[in-house]
Amino acid sequence: ERGRSLILQAHVDVVPPGPTDMWTHPPFAPVIDGDWLYGRGGADMKAGHAANIFALDALRRIGLKPAATIYIQSVVEEESTGNGALMTHLRGYRADAALIPEPEDEKLVRANVGVLWFQVQVRGVPVHVREMGEGANAIDAAYRLIGELRRLEAEWNAAKTGREHFEREEHPINLNIGRIEGGDWASSVPAWCTLQCRISIYPGQSAEAAARELEERISHFARNDRFLANLPPSVTFNGFRAEGYTLEPGSEAEKVLGRAHRAATGADLQSFMTAGYLDTRVHALYDKIPALCYGPYSQGIHAFDERVSLASVKRITGTIALFIAEWCGTEAIALC
Ligand SMILES: [Zn+2]
Repeated sequence: ERGRSLILQAHVDVVPPGPTDMWTHPPFAPVIDGDWLYGRGGADMKAGHAANIFALDALRRIGLKPAATIYIQSVVEEESTGNGALMTHLRGYRADAALIPEPEDEKLVRANVGVLWFQVQVRGVPVHVREMGEGANAIDAAYRLIGELRRLEAEWNAAKTGREHFEREEHPINLNIGRIEGGDWASSVPAWCTLQCRISIYPGQSAEAAARELEERISHFARNDRFLANLPPSVTFNGFRAEGYTLEPGSEAEKVLGRAHRAATGADLQSFMTAGYLDTRVHALYDKIPALCYGPYSQGIHAFDERVSLASVKRITGTIALFIAEWCGTEAIALC
């Protein structure tokens, strides 16, 4: 091979649409209105997936093919664990750089948080509501526990001081209480309550250490709570246990992307920090290669009326085609 090899990756899984009556158009019936293509997963990230493939089509149309191996990777589970991207690493696929066109508003991701998912199960002895003064209510206890988790979140946000790429962010660490279930019916004091939570961590922080800190924090709080002390809540890590990454400035891959972006859009490539999980971490942390996350303009990802700008998809397809041409080099396709 003459050129440098490349992984072009995209994830095909999407997040749930939520109540579909909150959408202008049905989430799984895509609609184009002006420059916007609406639909769950259109922006995050079928558009980028299409751009990866169309970039190769664009080169072929002008009689060129890449002079090095390109892996087109279509992965699952980006929204829950990152295990799809992780499998590409474990299977041994390696290249000199990776590009993932997530909807990043035509900017390059410089730093990205890690993410932990955890479930907390609160249990207690059910009683008749007339005994409620005893305070043995698992849902009330879960509320108190959420209060403690919010205090932990505030402390982790305060720890942004001195962290490059995070110090200037208002609220870089987000705790999401994503799901709450508990109790059986209105006239029994609930004996159980389960919380499904997600929290982020700074790049360079160990996911293992953060998980231990969470566990210790919850058990310490439980020991000092009248109800929780009798039956300590159990914590299970049931999804993401992923570390964040930083794209070190100055790599040749970033320079090539910057030139391709300027040629395709007429603007300088900007970089920024994102507070959500990205599969690029697999390539940055484990493949140890330049991992570029850069993709089209969008609105409403993970929300209602998710939409992607089609003009932007065309522009970033141009960027990717030019990036391939310079990074991998090109060869003429023999005409027969
Ligand atoms: Zn995504």
